Amino acid sequence: AQQQAQASYDAQDLWQKDRNHFVHPFTDFSVFHENGCDLITDSDGIYVEDAHGNRFIDGIAGLWCVNVGHGRAEIGQAMAEQATRMAYFSTFNNLSNAPATELAAKLAELAPAHLNHVFYSCGGSTANDATIRLVHYYFNRLGKPSKKRILSRTNAYHGTTYMAASLTGIASNNWQFDTLDLVTHLSEANCYRRPEGMSEAEYCDHLTDELEQTIDRLGADNIAAFIAEPIMGAGGVLVAPQGYHSRVQAICRANDILFIADEVVTGFGRLGHFFASEAVFETQPDIINVAKGLSSGYAPLGATLISDALYEVLSTPQGPGGVLSTGFTYSGHPVSCAAALKNIEIIEREGICENVLDVGPYLESQLKTLASHETVGDIRGSHFMMAIENVADKTTKELLPVEARVGDRVAAEAQKRGLIIRPVGHLNIISPPLIWTRQVVDEVVAILDDAFAATTRSLKADGCL
Ligand code: PLP
Repeated sequence: AQQQAQASYDAQDLWQKDRNHFVHPFTDFSVFHENGCDLITDSDGIYVEDAHGNRFIDGIAGLWCVNVGHGRAEIGQAMAEQATRMAYFSTFNNLSNAPATELAAKLAELAPAHLNHVFYSCGGSTANDATIRLVHYYFNRLGKPSKKRILSRTNAYHGTTYMAASLTGIASNNWQFDTLDLVTHLSEANCYRRPEGMSEAEYCDHLTDELEQTIDRLGADNIAAFIAEPIMGAGGVLVAPQGYHSRVQAICRANDILFIADEVVTGFGRLGHFFASEAVFETQPDIINVAKGLSSGYAPLGATLISDALYEVLSTPQGPGGVLSTGFTYSGHPVSCAAALKNIEIIEREGICENVLDVGPYLESQLKTLASHETVGDIRGSHFMMAIENVADKTTKELLPVEARVGDRVAAEAQKRGLIIRPVGHLNIISPPLIWTRQVVDEVVAILDDAFAATTRSLKADGCL
């Protein structure tokens, strides 16, 4: 089937159409106008293939999402069966469908004990966006309408709807875009670039002091919620100091501020658990948002998991004719939910979380062998969520000039050798499907070893190092 699909594509024709008509998300037009896009047309397990038949190891799980790997026929089959049986019907106005209902119950079973209610959206951005609307509604209904401000963090990534982009704290992501004045950004927890001479414990105090001072300055009566990724993803795979999240949660609790965990990346196995908040970080968020690995990217889906306490308020009838007026046409889409149910079944049946707990530490330790390369400043992350930060000088941690495009260079060298990793500025991100084995890790690290060596040579040849 794959051979046939490949034969039926005209790579040049597709490239041209794409360049003429597809406005891509997150695209550097200085490169796009010249080079267009690489078309990925086929996939299987840990591999993807481009329109020319070149095969690559997928080192980014599509975009942190294809957790169970590519080409799972049983997910395709579950989706096809649902699409032909009942592809779509409304979930508004007291209507429901079987997969959405089953999935809500399954998520309630898997999530921390107090999270038993699911609001569906179309992906991570819409999950975060819907969440902030629900949080504002919650405080309005409690008679606390001044509680509106959301605390987020510099370099956080929460998506690109207007609200999600406003929560996002990566300055370059919002360059020449406007944001809503509803969010205050605290410092990110960046152990690698923490102030000189501070221990990790002191750094944790420093960050929580900043939170307390911010609450004092803004007034707890004006703050609705704090949102954070348990490990910051697109902002650089930043692992907070030990105890940070639980201390932040305690401060939030003390100030009647809701604690929201954005587990769009960390959820569904990437750190070895369905949900990392409680299992890894010992927090009990009021809300957990998931997307990506929820359906392993086989269909668009996001979900907001809501605590019993919040649900009690959200579900209080409004009075005659009043309804909770928020949601999407595709909230609880039956085909997406069928994909998610099969995806979860596979994760459980194949012990995919267990694989991450076993292979993850090996991936971390093997990647750390790359530290000897001249440009490798930091190798960080946890389990199947890793990043390598490139620097010009390991002692001063000074970055290479932006024009050196070091992340792009490393990614291109890896791609030449059959591995796709993601460049993000001066970083390279490795966030693979959760089915990598130790042998795959060995193959990947050998490729990266060559790719970093080639990058150092090319940076020197170009006078950047
Ligand atoms: N939240 C986090 C932590 C993410 O990493 C992402 C996407 O990368 C999003 C939210 C946005 O998700 P989506 O692109 O599905 O809207």
